[in-house]
Amino acid sequence: MSTPSQSRTWAEPFKIKVIEHVRIPSQQEREAAIREAGYNTFLLRSDEVYIDLLTDSGTTAMSDRQWAAMMIGDEAYAGSRSFYRLEAAVQEWYGYKYVVPTHQGRGAENLLSKTMIKPGDIVPGNMYFTTTRLHQELAGGTFTDIIIPEAHDPASLHPFKGNVDLAKLESVILEFGPDKIPYVSLAATVNLAGGQPISLENVRAVRELTNKYGIKVILDAARIVENAYFIQQREPGCQSRTIASIVKEMCSYTDGCTMSAKKDPLVNIGGFLAVNDHAIYEEAANLAVIYEGLHTYGGMAGRDMEALATGIEESLHEDHIRARVGQILYLGKKLIDAGIPIVQPIGGHGVFLDARAFLPHIPQEQYPAQALAAALYLDSGVRSMERGIVSAGRNKNGEENKPKLELVRLTIPRRVYTQAHMDVVAESVQIVYSHRDTIRCLKMIHEPKYLRFFQARFEPLG
Ligand SMILES: *Cc1c(COP(=O)(O)O)cnc(C)c1O
Repeated sequence: MSTPSQSRTWAEPFKIKVIEHVRIPSQQEREAAIREAGYNTFLLRSDEVYIDLLTDSGTTAMSDRQWAAMMIGDEAYAGSRSFYRLEAAVQEWYGYKYVVPTHQGRGAENLLSKTMIKPGDIVPGNMYFTTTRLHQELAGGTFTDIIIPEAHDPASLHPFKGNVDLAKLESVILEFGPDKIPYVSLAATVNLAGGQPISLENVRAVRELTNKYGIKVILDAARIVENAYFIQQREPGCQSRTIASIVKEMCSYTDGCTMSAKKDPLVNIGGFLAVNDHAIYEEAANLAVIYEGLHTYGGMAGRDMEALATGIEESLHEDHIRARVGQILYLGKKLIDAGIPIVQPIGGHGVFLDARAFLPHIPQEQYPAQALAAALYLDSGVRSMERGIVSAGRNKNGEENKPKLELVRLTIPRRVYTQAHMDVVAESVQIVYSHRDTIRCLKMIHEPKYLRFFQARFEPLG
């Protein structure tokens, strides 16, 4: 496949074989729907949504090859042929030895945390992810952030804002002692920082540092292909390398990964835990029979494992990932040109609006990002989601965590929308921006105990 030059226009590397109709809900319907949903876009019904940018999780359009693979799924309870095909794909493309399928990413996080974390342990990570941190805490661990400070600054143009601050990591190791650190939790790309990548050089350095102290490194690989694309585009010496070789090298510096296959691997449900250490594998495979299913299906149907094995391979195609990230850059650039405050550099899976800068009249305790997501839905039926104080939840003392980043995420599903949809989204954000001073503060009127952002309810103030 030849690479089009950067100066030429590009198009999606597929044509459309099946379509799904979408509908624009009326202004009246949108007003009723968002009120009914307690101003939480997670509580909208998808029939009330026009363009759905809530998440890129499990929202992928599968290819004809994946649908064909599903027909040959082996639904045997034990030893399914489809499991061995998935295992071989993980070994070939990521390079890990042992694979435990799980129903999705958090299933793998649960098995990993229960297997590796003891009460009182410290888990350093390059910024937290909601479910990852919760499973670490439920296993008795405490998450410690070791990302570089630039990650917390939406205006910093650092090319690898997902990087680990190596000095900080070493000081955490020296403060608590290597015995208290079961592993370093390394995300690629960093979702909550705005889809920001980690450099190959940094992953290598994390490996060298942890080797010195005998500490393992576990990768959150949900968005590793997007990360590899940024490495190929930005890191000196990587321009002529293939995405597949960069992914494999990244994995080679780690001892295992948790995978939400609903992201880069291009399927609607599924995940796995992959490790190189046989003892860890055995324990996790044993726990899988309690929480997931037998270790050769882990909550997935045989057909799901077939679609995933094919999806892993397709996700590494150069033209796929270039168009995937290209669509996000296209939307992000439109918003930057219109003067909208967004997190820069533009991330790999979505465009993140900076709600603090967008709505300076709303204090963080009155949920500016939540209010902005609701306002965008009201304008056009475009669904986005909050990634700010609501997502950050409360600390062990019951106080609200107050993250520096107060963002609204416009997350682009893989292979689902066209550039024309992106134009509609950009226009709606601009319209909302033009009347931003009329957007009201919110009050939380229902707060669930775990991962509150999914189910919390709000009411406008004043
Ligand atoms: C989605 C996601 C998870 C959790 O995976 P699920 O499949 O939603 O359970 C973990 N880490 C990252 C970075 C994710 O994006």
